[in-house]
Amino acid sequence: AKMLEIRKKYCNPMTMKVTYYKKPVYIHQGYMQWLWDVDGHRYLDLFAGVATVSVGHCHPQVTEAAVRQLKRLWHTTNIYIYSPLHEYAEKLASHFPDPLKVVYFTNSGSEANDLAMLMSRLHTGNFDIITLRGSYHGGSPQTMGLTSNAAYKYPIASGLGCHTTMCPDVFQGPWGGSHCRDSPIQTIRDCSCSPGCCQANDMYIGQLKEVFATCVPSRIAAFFGEPIQGVGGAVQYPKNYLKETYKLVRERGGVCIADEVQTGFGRTGSHFWGFQGHDVMPDIVTMAKGIANGYPMGALVTTPEIAASFAKGVHFNTFGGNPVACAIASSVLDTIREDGTQQNSADVGTYLLKELAKLRDKYEIIGDVRGKGLQIGVEMVRDKASRQPLPADAMRQIFECTKDMGVLIGMGGVYGQTFRIKPPMCITKEDADFFLAVFRHALESYMEQR
Ligand code: PMP
Repeated sequence: AKMLEIRKKYCNPMTMKVTYYKKPVYIHQGYMQWLWDVDGHRYLDLFAGVATVSVGHCHPQVTEAAVRQLKRLWHTTNIYIYSPLHEYAEKLASHFPDPLKVVYFTNSGSEANDLAMLMSRLHTGNFDIITLRGSYHGGSPQTMGLTSNAAYKYPIASGLGCHTTMCPDVFQGPWGGSHCRDSPIQTIRDCSCSPGCCQANDMYIGQLKEVFATCVPSRIAAFFGEPIQGVGGAVQYPKNYLKETYKLVRERGGVCIADEVQTGFGRTGSHFWGFQGHDVMPDIVTMAKGIANGYPMGALVTTPEIAASFAKGVHFNTFGGNPVACAIASSVLDTIREDGTQQNSADVGTYLLKELAKLRDKYEIIGDVRGKGLQIGVEMVRDKASRQPLPADAMRQIFECTKDMGVLIGMGGVYGQTFRIKPPMCITKEDADFFLAVFRHALESYMEQR
């Protein structure tokens, strides 16, 4: 209660919101996929501090690397030469195909996307940027312009030159998830599963062309897209949507930017980077969150050619490439390889998606289950026929009940209608079964009461 009072008095509770406000959770400690509150209750963490704890809370190997570096050198800025930054730059670049080889360090995803905006404009000499409905790209004044989710933006502060196009697969879209019943476990909705997907692709590409024709000048600076939308609710695109979009954007002089803040570092299971699942090659990739398992850090990777356009001044930020952050991030890459984290994401994620799809078929209030690896969305509806979003109080009841039974999940989607599951990527099938039992119970107790 004291902490809540402090929060009320010294932090603006209008903007810094507690997710479980009915009965808040006071987190004390974490280990791998588990969190403990101050009273010693254990929670299975399926939200990972918003898709951030990648290899596990306080992972022993990563913690050891952090402590080792903390004892040696905390900080000196990148105007000096020190090994953690250089070792990590080389290691990170080795995870990218050519020509994505030039690394910039930031402290967050917003900052990486700010930098990507600037870089794309300098490189192309153009100004306008296209983003997708439901996207989230950051909370800085500039990136709020990219973010097309009203809950997270103050339109008056930003958005100049940023245009939103409809995003495929949005809630109540003509295609939605219902045509893909048989194949809920693909990176991208595969056209072979339904003619509806192809129609949807044509329709959304048509809408993008409409945005080009009516909203933007003939030349643009960039297209920003998350390979699978995160905050938007694990929204996936029809097969070839990104491929065609990249082509149209490049025809108009723009560069293509993949925001891998949520999808990177093996989260989608099948690929290390989400963009690889779409068979596209971005010009700029931004990342943060999972990069350092929860330690504040972000990065941007681009081509030497684009980097050369961004060479008139100095790119400096005090903490970018901090020795401790780089030592941790380096250990995260090693750990992903040694623990088989990406494969686990694929295995447990596929299992969860399949089991959740069974619940979707059983319960009238689950409208769609989608995602890839451990980037999963469960979209809730009043009923399958209306496809109206499940009202906020019902969402909250299920959400809080799940927490009371020891599982933390997330919420998102344009209408707040999607439960989000993005755990530390070390969860097991047994954890998935525990969640499924809890979730089933939460759904049934809501349906009994309504
Ligand atoms: N891009 C995506 C896809 C995100 O999900 C987020 C954060 N939710 C950001 C960018 C912004 O990252 P940060 O909060 O580290 O600034």
